[in-house]
Amino acid sequence: MTDLLLFTADLRVHDNPALAEAAGADRIVPLYVDDPRRRSNPNRRRFLLESLDDLRASLRDLGGDLVVRSGPTVEQVMKVAAATGARAVVCARDAGRFETQLRADLAEACETEGIAYRATAGPSAVEPGRLRPSGGGDHYKVFTPYWRAWSQARWRDVAAEVDRLRVPDLPESDDLRPEATEADLPPGGERAALARLDDWEASGYDSGRDDLAADRTSRLSPYLALGCLSARVLAADPRLPEAFVRQLCWRDFHRQVLAAFPALIDTPYKRNIEEDWDADLTALQAWRTATTGVDIVDAGMRQLLAEGWMHNRARLICAGYLTRTLGLDWRDGADHFARHLVDLDEANNWGNWQWTAGTGNDTRPNRGFNHERQAARFDPDRVYRRRWGCS
Ligand code: FAD
Repeated sequence: MTDLLLFTADLRVHDNPALAEAAGADRIVPLYVDDPRRRSNPNRRRFLLESLDDLRASLRDLGGDLVVRSGPTVEQVMKVAAATGARAVVCARDAGRFETQLRADLAEACETEGIAYRATAGPSAVEPGRLRPSGGGDHYKVFTPYWRAWSQARWRDVAAEVDRLRVPDLPESDDLRPEATEADLPPGGERAALARLDDWEASGYDSGRDDLAADRTSRLSPYLALGCLSARVLAADPRLPEAFVRQLCWRDFHRQVLAAFPALIDTPYKRNIEEDWDADLTALQAWRTATTGVDIVDAGMRQLLAEGWMHNRARLICAGYLTRTLGLDWRDGADHFARHLVDLDEANNWGNWQWTAGTGNDTRPNRGFNHERQAARFDPDRVYRRRWGCS
């Protein structure tokens, strides 16, 4: 019996529920499909291609390999299944409009072809929909009670380790092309992720995570976004402080929101909100190009352009400035981030943008926002601003 394993945002061999599930078959066909409809950008793409190379090397170490195809996912899966005689398709569940539709289409195509289809746990430590508020509703709308429930919940079982794979004759892979980028990016892949985790000094995280100049956060987000690391394993890692695990919980929180509200990327999560954004293209362009003249905002936006990544506190300041100070639409801000972020993640990007704009899960949507106070508090010596030539 041959199973086809479709990798999505789980580009790793450790704690991979879909890999563990498919490895139960006599032979497996590991496949990644580069679907042009999936939102990406040149930074994320370069990181993806490196992560795929690394995954292929890991699968080869186990006796397997990786087929990479480009095109519409369902079409490619069916072609490769037909070429290899696969009788089942296995993939991980993930939230989001595109991913959910894709799995529905895949299940339907499998049924038509008489192929079994099995979906396994996805990128969360606690799957969306598993925790429900006692007061009713299909998901948590507020973070703090979610954090309480999540901390006490039984997280999904860590997937069994796979130590050997057998593959049938595999079809050729397509050659995926990188897109040009000048950004200074971290290396992609599971091995680089584990090395970064080992190198990272987590002890200063709790007190230093908001200090813009100190740069004490893990910078693991690109690896988590593509599943080169397992959030489930990280959440239980005794070396990591509770404040860090809380951020992983935010990640699960936004995923369960997205699963319940797949329109998060373009529709206000708060249904009864009146949106009234300005349409000032000049101001929007200055924000995008880091030329607003507001030093702390320009510093953050320069970091985004240079590294495809931005410190969380700077993301909050830049997003707050766009939506609350300039009164511009969060969709334009989120779209610009999506064009640059190496860690682009649908739930986290649009969930956080809506949170910042007051249309999302913030319990105090009208909270004041003052970039000068933020700058004085989180970059008191102007080191971050100077680093980015903005002081
Ligand atoms: P650490 O502080 O080391 O945190 C560890 C991990 O926890 C992160 O890697 C991430 O997976 C998760 N995490 C941390 N903060 C958050 C958060 N607020 N919400 C959800 N998960 C979190 N994160 C993304 O991964 N992709 C995005 O596209 C994205 N867009 C954002 C847009 C805006 C406007 C804002 C305010 C935040 C956004 N974030 C996004 C969340 C956060 O800024 C990044 O995850 C974080 O800065 C990544 O750096 P790190 O890995 O060093 O984080």
